[in-house]
Amino acid sequence: MIRVLSVASECVPLVKTGGLADVVGALPAALAAEGVEMRVLLPGYRPVLAALPKAEPVWQADDLFGGPVRLLQGATAGLSLFVLDAPHLYDRPGGPYLDEAGQDWPDNDMRFAALSWMAARIGVEGAGEWRPDLVHCHDWQAGLAPIYLKARGVDLPSVMTVHNMAFRGLIPPDRLAALALPGWAFQPDGMEFYGQISALKAGLVYGWKVTTVSPTYARELTGPDFGAGFDGVIRARGADVSGILNGIDEAMWNPATDPHISPYKAPRGKAKARAALIGEMGLPEGDGPLCVVVSRLSEQKGLDLLLEALPRLIARGGRLAMLGSGDPVLETAWRDAAEALPGVAVRIGYDEALSHRMIAGGDAILVPSRFEPCGLTQLYGLRYGTVPVVARTGGLADTVIDANPAALAAGVATGVQFAPVTAGALATALDRLCDLHADPATFQKIQRNGMRAPVGWGVSAAAYAALYREIARPR
Ligand code: ADP
Repeated sequence: MIRVLSVASECVPLVKTGGLADVVGALPAALAAEGVEMRVLLPGYRPVLAALPKAEPVWQADDLFGGPVRLLQGATAGLSLFVLDAPHLYDRPGGPYLDEAGQDWPDNDMRFAALSWMAARIGVEGAGEWRPDLVHCHDWQAGLAPIYLKARGVDLPSVMTVHNMAFRGLIPPDRLAALALPGWAFQPDGMEFYGQISALKAGLVYGWKVTTVSPTYARELTGPDFGAGFDGVIRARGADVSGILNGIDEAMWNPATDPHISPYKAPRGKAKARAALIGEMGLPEGDGPLCVVVSRLSEQKGLDLLLEALPRLIARGGRLAMLGSGDPVLETAWRDAAEALPGVAVRIGYDEALSHRMIAGGDAILVPSRFEPCGLTQLYGLRYGTVPVVARTGGLADTVIDANPAALAAGVATGVQFAPVTAGALATALDRLCDLHADPATFQKIQRNGMRAPVGWGVSAAAYAALYREIARPR
């Protein structure tokens, strides 16, 4: 039995802004089957505390970074949790990273340094009766934990997982003392990044192993285009870096039992979900494929390219339903597109239930990301018989088999890939989708292949467990 403390800033079902939360929430159950006992350390945001009314304090201090804190221990939704209750850092409205006006909280450095500091303390001294053999840090919010461990003179094994290299966790250098960070780490071979502190780099340099969420993204990170300035660090870590694909929660995302839709067996039973979605979205009937998008609206996701390519889809009788939120410029552009183009329906916002209805009802799901560490919505699409059309990058490249002539002849295609990630190549991919969709036998074969593709945690949970075993000290 290996005991792992997983440290993250979000976790399904308590707090979520993206795929990180899905992964952190799914890993404990997936790893239990591999002989790993995983507990999750989260910040005590309001919704997290509200979900754990019976949590018990296991440690407290009068002052951590400017206020009293308690470490609570509790359980909910099958998760064993530690929660850092620090009202001066987390008891506020808004989201985990942004205030109600959409601005970064000005003290984010301290909020997540405190989380990492707490992880290191649990690593060294334990919490209650429990002490981890290994700390698993997710993204920059947990990246400082390996440094705090070293600063305590304990080099506990650690894994740093990068869910998105674009979030560097930059902190001005004059915060070093306020965050109780050791001066020795502030150097180019340590956590310094062009004169700033980078909490992400701290994890990349001092984590015993570094993983990211797909093999292709792991390779891409060794080059300047995707490395966000850390490609040298990644290259220097060599074989310590690996890519382990994300899985999906197959209980939550199952078309035969999904409580958000009237359950069906794809591809045949899909017709009802499709008709319901067309009705709900007020879309016109048409011969072409009904495409869906569920996404954050950010530069990364390439949805500006989709706006350019859309007329091609509509001209071929296709339709598009888009659910997303984020960048206000993109939100406006999408609202305008819905006004201008019949066949385009847009919902701006974050809506879990609607996301299920859309992925269930679509013929195809579009993911034209400029980069994509793993991506989850294409995996949901595969499971629901909703054919993914994806950019050939990161995890998208690893999880979708392009319907090229060889794959079609071999009967293994599961979707459409396109490269380079341009509006032109995307428009061509949408053309190909329309061609495939116009041939029902071929399209159904692709849907069936996708539904059979492994999208769960089995293989990846075993890969994490093997990595833990490689570095954890035997008890
Ligand atoms: P990222 O983490 O970069 O946002 P992923 O594809 O890894 O991308 O994960 C996104 C997760 O968030 C998926 O579970 C997706 O269904 C969900 N999601 C994104 N936008 C929305 C939205 N507007 N409404 C509901 N769920 C959303």
